[in-house]
Amino acid sequence: MSEDPNEPGHGIPVETEALKALRFYTDHYDQLFFRGLGGTNKQMVLGTKPYKCRFCGGERPARTFRKRAHAVSELLGNKVLKSLYECDADLLINNAGTSGALRRL
Ligand SMILES: [Zn+2]
Repeated sequence: MSEDPNEPGHGIPVETEALKALRFYTDHYDQLFFRGLGGTNKQMVLGTKPYKCRFCGGERPARTFRKRAHAVSELLGNKVLKSLYECDADLLINNAGTSGALRRL
């Protein structure tokens, strides 16, 4: 008897690439928490003071932290999960579409 989940009659068919991606994330990342990101959910701010930018390592007074960054892009529907650890300069760059993480590669 075959154990292939994509074979008819065995479980739910899953696209191979999607299954590979799911396995990658479950093998390499730990889920810290799960919560809804829509506007009806409770606001949550990640990070602690004093401010230190996670992208450039900058701190006050060399960097400003006047704007509140979203920990997950607002374009993905995040209305509630925000962070203290993104300086205004990197926020501007990231909002323009350049990932701070990719700049470090
Ligand atoms: Zn920064």
